[in-house]
Amino acid sequence: MVSSKLSELEEAIIRYPDVSPFVILKLSMILRGVELTPRALAKVQSEVYNFGFLEPFFIDFEGRTKEKAMPGSILLRDATNVYINYGDPAYTNPYHVDWSDDEGVFPLMDQGETIDSVDFVQRPDFFGKRTGRGVPMEAIADVRTQKLVITAYQHCRLWETGDQCKFCAFFTNSKETPKPGHATDETTSNTEDWRKTREINQEDIYETVREALKERGRFSEIQLSGGLDYGGKELFDNEVDRYIRVLRAIGRDFEGRFSSQLMAPAYSKKQVKRLYDETGLTSYCPNIEVWDEEKSKWLCPGKNKRVGREEWINRTIDAVEIFGKGFVCTQVVGGAELAAPYGFKSVDEALESNFQACEFFAKNGVVFLSTIWRPHYASALGKQPMPPLDYYIRLARGLRQIRKEYGLRAINDDYKHCGNHPDADLERID
Ligand code: SF4
Repeated sequence: MVSSKLSELEEAIIRYPDVSPFVILKLSMILRGVELTPRALAKVQSEVYNFGFLEPFFIDFEGRTKEKAMPGSILLRDATNVYINYGDPAYTNPYHVDWSDDEGVFPLMDQGETIDSVDFVQRPDFFGKRTGRGVPMEAIADVRTQKLVITAYQHCRLWETGDQCKFCAFFTNSKETPKPGHATDETTSNTEDWRKTREINQEDIYETVREALKERGRFSEIQLSGGLDYGGKELFDNEVDRYIRVLRAIGRDFEGRFSSQLMAPAYSKKQVKRLYDETGLTSYCPNIEVWDEEKSKWLCPGKNKRVGREEWINRTIDAVEIFGKGFVCTQVVGGAELAAPYGFKSVDEALESNFQACEFFAKNGVVFLSTIWRPHYASALGKQPMPPLDYYIRLARGLRQIRKEYGLRAINDDYKHCGNHPDADLERID
């Protein structure tokens, strides 16, 4: 019997011949979920695949076994990356990844039927090492395709006041009131306290990046991000100072600019200019998250309260004057605008809204991208059904087409750099 998800997948591949079947498979795997069989889970404990136990964004997944390490992202045969929330209890009919000793491959299975073979991103050489102060390097940097992803501030202050983005499950520990001597904004000097700190020590970051770059040819971009910190004389001044310190520390290993992306709030022009002038940063990404004004106010109350949607948009466009066309991007959490109870009621309305946003930003030299909404029990929206596969295919296809018409490419977020944007995955044949 053909399972519903396999027939849905096959129908979609026929209906959209201009969309890579690997990208459609990726979307289907993210929507339906993937579980590892015991054989596959045993195989990924090996030194080649083991990504360890640490999760820099502090996301919990209920169904994960604490004794087993998780692998990195799944690699499809064309090197498309698939990021799976392993252990998500809501998967009711997931794909399975198995391991075959005879063939030496990981078969991708649907209800006992092999539909393809996959692989996993290999463990980077710097995992398992510690900084001079004793902090595990995999707690400092995550790996996404050829990107080193550094979460410099592992806390989001919007959670303190309960006006965090409603789809967000990052830094859920931010709700906890810091106890004296714990979780502070100070960088830790006690190596045993590294797990309790919010701000990662810049020397730990410097050493981790330096060590990662010893693996020749593996990384081609450094991405910096973190939770939102609105403190300072001017809104975000503390955060801007922090990122400048970190980027300058990383920059000690480079001459001039180095391939890098800062994913951060929309800063004032003066702050963006400081980031550009005082560091080697090459691209800047203030994420709008949700385009529609009404849905944005509902889903991103903290960002709207502190900056406001119009100002966020203006600041994003202003940043193009400093970083240049194509080096400022912004992304939405694709599908969150359809969430219950106040989201769009139809995928057509949601798509129209996102395409309007993409066109608006493209006219202004900004690369507009979409990630995929992963409903999570710890977010304010809670666990909700995801939009259908057809929505995500049309979204990816439409955004790629609009950017192409305006001569824009998602250089910093293409399939080799990031792999987290299906629309950017499609650019590889342009
Ligand atoms: S700014 Fe929003 S999306 Fe980012 S960490 Fe805070 S709540 Fe989450």
